[in-house]
Amino acid sequence: MTQTNRSAEDIKRDGPDHFIREIIKGDLASGRESKVVTRFPPEPNGYLHIGHAKSISLNFGMADEFDGHCNLRLDDTNPVKEDDEYIEAIQEDLRWLSTEWDGNTLHASDYFEQLYAWAEHLIEAGDAYVDDLNAEQIREYRGTLTEPGRNSPHRDRSVEENLDLFARMRAGEFPDGAKTLRAKIDMASGNINMRDPVIYRVLHANHPRTGDTWCIYPTYDFAHGQSDAIEGVTHSLCTLEFADHRPLYDWLIEHLPTPSVPKQTEFARLNLTYTILSKRKLMQLVNEGVVEGWDDPRMPTIRGLRRRGIPAEALRDFARGIGVARADSAVEYGYLEFCTREVLNKISLRRMAVLNPIKVVIENYPEGESELLDAVNNPEDETAGMRQVEFSREIYIERDDFMEDPPKKFFRLSPGREVRLRYAYFITCTDVIKDANGEVVELRCSYDPASRGGESPDGRKVRGTLHWVDAARALSAEVRRYGHLFNVEDPAGEEDFLTAINPDSKTVIADGKIEPALASDPPGAYVQFERLGYFCVDRDSTPDRPVFNETVALRDTWKKIQKAQG
Ligand code: ATP
Ligand code: MG
Repeated sequence: MTQTNRSAEDIKRDGPDHFIREIIKGDLASGRESKVVTRFPPEPNGYLHIGHAKSISLNFGMADEFDGHCNLRLDDTNPVKEDDEYIEAIQEDLRWLSTEWDGNTLHASDYFEQLYAWAEHLIEAGDAYVDDLNAEQIREYRGTLTEPGRNSPHRDRSVEENLDLFARMRAGEFPDGAKTLRAKIDMASGNINMRDPVIYRVLHANHPRTGDTWCIYPTYDFAHGQSDAIEGVTHSLCTLEFADHRPLYDWLIEHLPTPSVPKQTEFARLNLTYTILSKRKLMQLVNEGVVEGWDDPRMPTIRGLRRRGIPAEALRDFARGIGVARADSAVEYGYLEFCTREVLNKISLRRMAVLNPIKVVIENYPEGESELLDAVNNPEDETAGMRQVEFSREIYIERDDFMEDPPKKFFRLSPGREVRLRYAYFITCTDVIKDANGEVVELRCSYDPASRGGESPDGRKVRGTLHWVDAARALSAEVRRYGHLFNVEDPAGEEDFLTAINPDSKTVIADGKIEPALASDPPGAYVQFERLGYFCVDRDSTPDRPVFNETVALRDTWKKIQKAQG
């Protein structure tokens, strides 16, 4: 395949080269198409997840890159599983994620009347028939991969009889499953999808949009390509599992007087390590109470990732950056973390929070006094400005930042050792207070008043810089820390994915000590707890009880992986 030269900027903006871009370029160059039209076609039977973000990125991205258009089309042909709740959520999630969606929502159900007419067209041409076989019999007659199928005894009904029966199906004369409409193709085809596929079924079910208007519904195969054609979709991009359906897709377009001829191209779906990406399984996690809902910050749903504190920009960068291939593979979860850190580093406010506190008393600091010290809100963003943090005789530091008997490379606080308190002073540990069990409960320190702002007064160096909060002003917060929801890389590969649940995926710190500025950050705000990681204000947060979710730790495992791979 020819890879045309794209600049480094093109690649940064639109992602790496891939075969779909080349196909589109070819179709535009040859004049086969003059304007690119794509669509993102979720079925409203669950919430969007990060796999959908890949499809969104590809479909909206290609349309945008080539000055075309991408439709959101709800593929709402199975009323039994579909619900208004999902319809609303899909639109809300897309609005949050996409910068390119025009805000219009199309529906396969809008085309039911046209699809019905086209089914009649097939009947009239002798290309479809009403069958009386039930689902089980149809399966039996279908044959196997190695054996051809057998013709249904009803395959040779006359056009008149078929038209009459199909009309009566629509009129509601038959119970669910009693009759189907099937395309008359080839029961001996090597492709099972071509063995007289069912294109309409009887289903007495209320549809979220069409209500009780219909009691027969088109199947995915009959609705999808025809909806594409109605919308003038040029490139119908779908995941690999539909490759075997392509001959049927083309057959239907060929046998119907559609206003356009769309072309289906398949790409590999996103798999992400330590993650499940199947709506059915995600629903199971919610229904069985493994997680606390669709927006649980451990869920790979768009709203779970959003609540976790992953900005839309990071998700877009991820979805673009992973590229598009023809073969299945799994993307490292670390790459999502990498993209998240890249964005959060630019936009998050730096704050201080101590999650596992130990008190430090600075004995030579005057009792009853305090002072305000300058702190930078975001060194990556000058416009974020400064704030002041209050400092006094008693502060908290992380328990982990002290060791009574440290190993050689521990550069933090220990008896006799001097460290810097960020934005504040140099302090030296002078004494360790323990309880009756020998546990350290408080540290005594002295400070050097000449080191105000954390500057060395005489050129002497300290190895460690610690974050801290003032004990009297610190607020208490709930901080939720998260690990992977699964403890194996490929949970979908387990016999029962539920056995691979990580029991420690959520840890709640009930009494984290935070600097007061954090209490006024609104839900959704992105913050960096200095030296710990990126966090965001959860929607459960109230002024009296701030709640934070850990988004991602600071440690960059992805860069390490990259380095290791050269
Ligand atoms: P699931 O397997 O999770 O139930 P689905 O394919 O049934 O997903 P749809 O709502 O039909 O979900 O998907 C809408 C679009 O998103 C389809 O074009 C589908 O191919 C695409 N899509 C779904 N999952 C992924 C994924 N993991 N990676 C890339 N694209 C995906
Ligand atoms: Mg689907």
